[in-house]
Parts: sequence; structure tokens; C-alpha cells
Amino acid sequence: MAQIYIETHGCQMNEADSQDIRQRALAAGFTLAERPDDASVLVLNTCTVRDNAEQRAYGRIAHWKAVKDADPSVKVIVTGCLAEQDKDRMRTIVPHVDGVFGTRELGALGDALAGWRAEYPDDDFSVDREIETVMGGEGVGIAGPYDALRGFVTVQRGCSYYCTFCIVPHVRGRFDHRPMREILDEVRAKAAGGAREITLVGQTVNAYKEPATGADFADLLEAVCALEDVERVSFISSHPKDLNEKLAHVCATLPKMNPRFHLALQSGSNPMLRKMNRKYTIEQFLERIATFKAHNPSWAMTTDLIVGFPGETEEDFQKTIDVCATGIFAQAYMFVYSPRRGTPAAVWHAANAVPHDVAQDRFVRLKAVQDEAVRAYHERKVGTTVRALIHGVSRKDRTRLSAKTVDNVTVNFPMVETEADPSRPWVDVRVEGASVWGVRGTCVGRAARYDGAADPVAPPLVDLLAV
Ligand code: SF4
Repeated sequence: MAQIYIETHGCQMNEADSQDIRQRALAAGFTLAERPDDASVLVLNTCTVRDNAEQRAYGRIAHWKAVKDADPSVKVIVTGCLAEQDKDRMRTIVPHVDGVFGTRELGALGDALAGWRAEYPDDDFSVDREIETVMGGEGVGIAGPYDALRGFVTVQRGCSYYCTFCIVPHVRGRFDHRPMREILDEVRAKAAGGAREITLVGQTVNAYKEPATGADFADLLEAVCALEDVERVSFISSHPKDLNEKLAHVCATLPKMNPRFHLALQSGSNPMLRKMNRKYTIEQFLERIATFKAHNPSWAMTTDLIVGFPGETEEDFQKTIDVCATGIFAQAYMFVYSPRRGTPAAVWHAANAVPHDVAQDRFVRLKAVQDEAVRAYHERKVGTTVRALIHGVSRKDRTRLSAKTVDNVTVNFPMVETEADPSRPWVDVRVEGASVWGVRGTCVGRAARYDGAADPVAPPLVDLLAV
């Protein structure tokens, strides 16, 4: 049976690439496996942003050796940033890997899949082609009927900014922007295939420049939102340097935009920002957010932060705490600095590392401050009814469904269906409680479109079962 298992680690760039691989695999006649043990081809889409991501990828590759040992016809494929970084090394240290495809070689991977497909001739290819299977990709290969609701479209590859801690320019190369026509074609295809929310992804997505015309990211957003079938639009991740008034203005004029802006700050300290080569000061960062918020007052701002960067003093760290304590971030992804081979910061780390326990302590303190801001943001939703796009069954509690609001807040509520109904993927949830992870409540309606009227829903199934 020609089944492929795709596991995705890392960021939404990888999620977009995995959607691409999935499409190529389906076109080649594969179906999607839910477990590695069921598959003839195993694909690991890797991340190298931090050392533990790299270790996890190698752990997974080692784990899959057992699958291959049990059935030598199984093929193990590695793609993503680790494939770029360790292409040559990998052939020696994990020789059971059958193919290593860089982030710009997905076409070649598709060709290889088409070639391998002939090795598994025991099923009906014409039937496979019609199967509309979807598969989730957040590090596990769980198939979900709602996964096709979200379409990720890569607008650019690589990055030319060379932040001193970052491996991306080294493994993915410099900016390579896709032609706008190609992006719009892909958006159209994803929307026609059922995607209700299109996320434009790039390492520095708002630096986008159309190669032929020079059109910028604001122009791209206008063109995407103008497509009739597109319902909601989001983008990630942005660089403060490329946040200008035009983009702020355009976001305010496009009702299809999801009101969430992810703008990576990294540190609140100017000496650290300079050392990181971030190209802005904290004053400029705050000024740009203020300009953006003047145009878009209801948008949620989210960010990334690093603690324990080489040479970070307590005073530097306190500046980051101070920014978070203002409550401007509805969410922050916080990390303890992790050295990446070949970057300038890795050299500084070797000479002047912040001691591990100090970095950990700072992380805990920063998290406590930022968690308060997140909780406060979520608590403001209590007592309101929010509209959210279903994700699927909650991973932690199989009796609940999980959804995301357009400002990217997780909403959890008791099950309201016996069978998945992707034709009405928008839920209205009366919010009854808030935590740092998100909000919980009761589903009171379901709608076919984000801007459509909701049908009332029956009481939650768990309540019915309880009586
Ligand atoms: S802008 Fe982002 S992707 Fe580019 S080098 Fe800096 S951290 Fe890496």
C-alpha cells in the first residue's frame, strides 16, 4: 500500500512546505498514513532554530531506523532546515536515510515520490487520486477533518538580515521572493480546496518585494484579499524594520485581515538589539507599534523574545521585562538563547555565555510577567461571544473541541458534533473562563462563513450523555 507519513517540526514555513509535499504525494498516488508504522515513505520536515529542535529531529530519524529495519522497502526522507545544514554529514551519521531534500528541492522530492510510487503497485491508483485526505502537521501525524481549513502559502524563502543568532540565512539562503502571480495562483487553489484562512508565510514576510514589479507586501495583501473565494487572511512573521505606515494603513482597509500582528522584538535592550543585528532600537520598535495601533487599535500584537543572549546583563534583561510589563503583547514566544553552529553569537556564547541557571531564572521571571499580560488579554473576552475557526478535537480532552479566534486565541468547548462538519467550520463560543493557554466556554452557534449568520447549536453532547 503506497502510504506516506509526513511529520513536521518547527515554524509555519515548514507547515507550508509540508502542505506542498502532501499535495505532491497525493498527486503521485500516495495516500496519507496516520502512523509511521503504516507508511512506505516517511518524511521528516525538520527545524534547526534551536539545539533541542536539532536533537529532536535526529532522535526521530534514529527512531525510524526500527521501522526501516522491520521493512527495508520503507524509505526515510529528511527535508527542511536540518537537511540544508547537515546534507553531507547526514549520509555518514544516519546512513539509513534514503533521501535528503533541501527547502528548495521540493520539486525534486515530488519527482522522487512519483518514481517510488511504482514500487507499491498493489492498490488502485485511480481511487487514490480521488481521496481527499488531510493530515495535521504539528510534530505528529494526526489526520484531522478540519486541517484543510487552513492554507499556508510561502511568499518568500530565505532571509538577508543576518541576525547574529539566527541560522536561517545560512541554511535557507538570502531572500528569494516568489512572483505575485504564483502566490495568487496558490492562494486561489488553496481557497478552492476548502481553506478558509490563508496564512502568508515568510521568515520576514513583510519585507516581500515582487521580483518583476517591486510591489511590496501591502500590495500583496491587497491582491490576496481581493480574491473572491478568500475568506480570512493572516501573515507571519514580520520584522520591525519593514513595518511602515503604508502597511498599517492597508491592514486597516482590508476587512478580511485577521487582527493579529506578529512582530519579533527579541530584546528590550538597545545594546542587545545592536549585538543581535536587529536593525532597530527599542524606541523605534515602540514607535512603529504605536503607528500601527493608531490605524488598527483592535489588533493583537504578538512577539518573540530571547533571554540569555551572550553578554546579556541583568540590566539588559530588565529592559525586556519592562516592555512586557506594559502589557502590549497578547502573546509572546520566549526562548532561552541556544547557540547555532556557524553564527557569530555562537562564538560569543563560547567566550561569554550567560550561565545556564541565570538564563533559566530570567526565563521564568519573564514568563511570569508576560503570562500576566496574556491572561489579562484573554480575560477581556470573558462574557463575550467570539467567532472562531475549528481546529479539531482537543488534544488534552477528547470530549472537547478546540478552535482559534481570528486574533489567534485558543478556544476550548464541549463537543457539539458526532461527526466532523467542515462545511460549518466557524463556531460562536460564549466565553466563560480564561487562562494563559486560551479561553473556554460553550458553543452557541455554527456558521458556514466568517461573516455569515450562525445556526444555533444543540446542547453539548457530553451533557446529553450525562442525563
Ligand atoms: S530576520 Fe528573522 S529569519 Fe532573518 S536573520 Fe533575523 S531572525 Fe533570522
